[in-house]
Amino acid sequence: MDIVLMGAPGAGKGTQAAKLEKELGLKHISTGDVLRDEIASGSELGKRIAAVINNGDLVSDELMLSVLKNIVAGTKEGIIFDGFPRTITQAKMLDAMLVQLGRKLRKAVAIELPEEVVVERLGERKQCKLPDGEIRQIGPDFSQEDCQKQGGKIFMRPDDTPEHVRHRLAVYHQQTEPVIQFYRQNGLYAKVDGNQDPQQVFESLLAVIKQ
Ligand code: AMP
Repeated sequence: MDIVLMGAPGAGKGTQAAKLEKELGLKHISTGDVLRDEIASGSELGKRIAAVINNGDLVSDELMLSVLKNIVAGTKEGIIFDGFPRTITQAKMLDAMLVQLGRKLRKAVAIELPEEVVVERLGERKQCKLPDGEIRQIGPDFSQEDCQKQGGKIFMRPDDTPEHVRHRLAVYHQQTEPVIQFYRQNGLYAKVDGNQDPQQVFESLLAVIKQ
């Protein structure tokens, strides 16, 4: 069972995908994390990716697919795609890739959140970089104290500044919102209210996924 988790930046996709991964025994694949790992590796490709991400733009569909393909092909469990697809072209590429690999998309679920809440949340969002390189989001499941206790460093994402957030939201409206229509047309679309307690969002997600 594969699931696409959609929503504007800051809607809580990462947090919820991690919870769904545990609950449903799925594999959480965040394309943002995949790209940040490539940057952390210090490769030439990583340097090109950093320039795009730090500006709040999307990396090209071709690059995204080439990075993702091997990961999906090497995954036996069902997948929660977090942050992918972000364009109609990617949605079509995903369809073709899943057919090729004999996999099936069960639902594309969007976490909906008013824009002013998104801007506020991202302005306050903090991450923790652990000594082994793992990045955890600071939140109800992992506090700043947890981070410090484990020897981690607290930081803010360079693309979470107000200026970059505005740009990312514009990119989201222009390029990613049409993907919702794509999934509506093929009957896989569902949405949940993201402006509730994280546990309630989680339960709403479970309910629509199991429908
Ligand atoms: P995220 O962690 O999902 O907010 O993604 C961070 C950044 O990674 C985005 O602002 C994009 O620059 C890039 N990115 C992540 N996923 C994709 C994707 N599916 N297509 C293109 N760029 C992406």
